[in-house]
Amino acid sequence: MASHSNENSDSPFKVPTIKFTKLFINGEFVDAVSGKTFETIDPRTGEVITRVAEGDKEDVDLAVKAARRAFDEGPWPRMSGAARGSIMLKYADLINEHIEDLAALDALDAGKLFNWGKAVDIPNVANLLRYYAGAADKIHGEVLKMSRELHGYTLREPIGVVGNIIPWNFPSTMFFMMSAPALAAGCTMIVKPAEQTPLSALFYADLAKQAGLPDGVINVVTGYGPTAGAAIASHMDVDKVCFTGSTEVGRKIMQAAATSNLKQISLELGGKSPLLIFDDADVDKAADLALLGILYNKGEICVASSRVFVQEGIFDEFEKKLKEKAKDWVVGDPFDPRSRLGPQVDKRQFDKILSYIEHGKREGASLLTGGKPAGNKGYFIEPTVFTDVKENMKIATDEIFGPVMSLMKFKTIDEAITKANNTKYGLAAGIVTKNIDIANTVSRSIRAGTIWINCYFAFDCDCSYGGYKMSGFGRHLGLEALHKFLQVKSIVTPIYNSPWL
Ligand code: NAD
Repeated sequence: MASHSNENSDSPFKVPTIKFTKLFINGEFVDAVSGKTFETIDPRTGEVITRVAEGDKEDVDLAVKAARRAFDEGPWPRMSGAARGSIMLKYADLINEHIEDLAALDALDAGKLFNWGKAVDIPNVANLLRYYAGAADKIHGEVLKMSRELHGYTLREPIGVVGNIIPWNFPSTMFFMMSAPALAAGCTMIVKPAEQTPLSALFYADLAKQAGLPDGVINVVTGYGPTAGAAIASHMDVDKVCFTGSTEVGRKIMQAAATSNLKQISLELGGKSPLLIFDDADVDKAADLALLGILYNKGEICVASSRVFVQEGIFDEFEKKLKEKAKDWVVGDPFDPRSRLGPQVDKRQFDKILSYIEHGKREGASLLTGGKPAGNKGYFIEPTVFTDVKENMKIATDEIFGPVMSLMKFKTIDEAITKANNTKYGLAAGIVTKNIDIANTVSRSIRAGTIWINCYFAFDCDCSYGGYKMSGFGRHLGLEALHKFLQVKSIVTPIYNSPWL
């Protein structure tokens, strides 16, 4: 295993200096009203990185006031879409100029691979802003064909003040998956990053100001879920809440919306996604895909392919390949270019994953590989594959959110479909086959928001994704997501000779 401390590793990158630790409200960095702060922890060591302002209800009130004013009186929703778009393009350029700083903050705070952040996560964030910047001046309603006496048309107007409550697994991507379409629509917002990963969100707040976003358009309140998050969800002056996180908290958001102002909500929740590998697959490539599907971002990804079903004809060969190839997934310091898995985000997540592994062993599943912590400090866990798994075991039904795969067998296409759908979740699924009939039949039969055929995690700005069943509702990405931040207003007027006149 690679070294955990940057001084000892081969990584030439120096851990970043933390510049921003205060709340960002109305264009200024400010302390929490209570003066309280909380620790953010380096998952490589369990040590404190720094302390960050702990916002709660009073700070949320201030942030909502700023966002409300910016929406009701400020220029952002009133300027042309092209003008909004050009500020968003500037924002994207600034993010590009700070790719290393931002990737380093997410590596430090969330244990994400620095190199992948540099190559994938942060450039994608800039691309997201560019995609929606291009859409900002193409928002329009329709002319209605009404009766002969009436002329009607629709406007698409921004929904208003939006609360974006985001998880820790993709601190940068999640910030912009919700904020970029909201900005293009002309909304103003309060972003609440997860308490485990507040650092990059504050850096993005500073860049927003530099890009020329008017004060109050983006506010960032760092703090805990049950205080700051709950205050956003139940606020009477927030028009919409976009929540990405666990199904359990998703329920609370729905309740808070129902008992406050009936605000609109979108929920992107958990998953237990299946990957189905058919007998005609290239076993070598399929094994690579299955490992990528569960080990990318150390399994802390909502669409992870945590249930892998392999057809019986290739099962034994596949199992052997998987065991061999899992060794290539080196666990280590996220700043070290040799590492392919960094540490889990925090102690709670680390303990939760290990307790699922113990449960799997007790229930009679066999460890094909892994199953233990890696190293003697920090929150590293070996890539873990369970075989001899029964569909009703907890490791096969619950979202573990870690590098733990349940490998299972099937005989027929119908059996594969039934097994894939045997879950309360419906976020994504993968199919590996060269047979177009199988690919078409299975992709239409699985109840999930995204189906990847012969690929996995193939995201694109234009390709929306989101949940079926208990994985939530609402869609990220694509123009679908932009429309979720707009509402339709119908305007009707009598025309000449109308009885209304
Ligand atoms: P979580 O639900 O505990 O926290 C998510 C966010 O909600 C955090 O910002 C947290 O502070 C806040 N929160 C917690 N309690 C709250 C409350 N009572 N009111 C308002 N806000 C509250 O989830 P997590 O553990 O941070 O993230 C892991 C979960 O997120 C997994 O289940 C995963 O599948 C899901 N996730 C889903 C997607 C998706 O797109 N569907 C993406 C990433 C993560």
